[in-house]
Amino acid sequence: MVPVSIVKCKETENTDILKTKILESINLIGGFKSKISRGDSVLIKPNLVGAVSYKTGGTTNPFLVEALIELLKEFGVGKITIGEGSAVGIKTRDAFAENGWDKLAERKKVRLLDFKKDDFIPMSIPEGKILRHLHTSKSLIESDIVINVPVMKTHDTYPATLGIKNMKGVIRESDKKRFHLWGLSQCIVDLNKLVLPHITIEDGTIGMEGYGPMFGTPANLGVIIASFDTVAADTVAAEVMGVEKDSIECLRLAVEQGLGCGDLSEIEILGCKIIDVKKKFAVASLEESELRENNINILEGGACSGCRITLEAFIYRLQKDGLLSNIKDHTFILGQNVKIPKNIKGPVIKFGVCTKTIDKELQGQEFSYIQGCPPHPDITSLYIKAGKLY
Ligand code: SF4
Repeated sequence: MVPVSIVKCKETENTDILKTKILESINLIGGFKSKISRGDSVLIKPNLVGAVSYKTGGTTNPFLVEALIELLKEFGVGKITIGEGSAVGIKTRDAFAENGWDKLAERKKVRLLDFKKDDFIPMSIPEGKILRHLHTSKSLIESDIVINVPVMKTHDTYPATLGIKNMKGVIRESDKKRFHLWGLSQCIVDLNKLVLPHITIEDGTIGMEGYGPMFGTPANLGVIIASFDTVAADTVAAEVMGVEKDSIECLRLAVEQGLGCGDLSEIEILGCKIIDVKKKFAVASLEESELRENNINILEGGACSGCRITLEAFIYRLQKDGLLSNIKDHTFILGQNVKIPKNIKGPVIKFGVCTKTIDKELQGQEFSYIQGCPPHPDITSLYIKAGKLY
């Protein structure tokens, strides 16, 4: 059985209380001593996707990491680094500044690292399905221990983003973009074959629901989930959030490719039971009636959740901003088995690499093509803007 602990934690800022909660969660799974030796260098990887207050649940709670640092120092580890590289196009320093991570690092005398500015070393991934080589943060590779502290939240490409997905922050910005071209989920899994964390502490002190990963609302979950098996921690976290674990494609592939345990019957839940803390996270959903009013059509055949959720999130954003009429009469096509009806009226947008070669079926109809597997949500917005549709 793979141990995963669940500890209730309604406190969000008192580091003394947070320390007792982290210690309880780690002791339940065997204690720091099962993974860490005195003097080890430790890299802590929070989720700081952008300059968003942790109070929204969009980024890792800095007080939780401060409490973790104090515990690690009391345990006697060596050098501690907090490392993150924010989302494509976002300056990590802005994300650090938003919640005072720079002051925290100064106060605790630990190193604060922007992965985007780190040295990268080429590493091979013999078991990689898409990636056989990848440039990876030198600081991370040289650390003895990696502690992953993702925040539990909904996402615009996956129903939820958790520990496996959080490791995407450690690579070069150019590779982050390429991941979407090459196949996001499998690339994330290949990356984790290289950088799978030693300990994962899922931050559900607040968490985000709705239009995550940055623009949702606080879920106010009040939970910490910890495991030495990131896949098992994600599996339990998904269950707590009311998200079907197999619908998180990178988690499903990680399970299939042996990165950890994704079977609840083989996971020993310690501390609270799932049912005691379960809270169904709201997901952003489209108003079908508004789509009909604007004659916006989505033709889908065999598309995976990556494309479906990315497109829905993009349309949802327009809907929320009252800009849905900007894509009036548009038809989006996605998935490799999509059936194209004759005489589509209005602009056609081919969405995702699966639709790249669907030309003949369009019978001369003009179209735009948004590449990616799935397309990156921000690339989608920019592309539509460039096409003067937004
Ligand atoms: S492009 Fe195709 S394979 Fe890639 S996410 Fe979209 S539907 Fe799935």
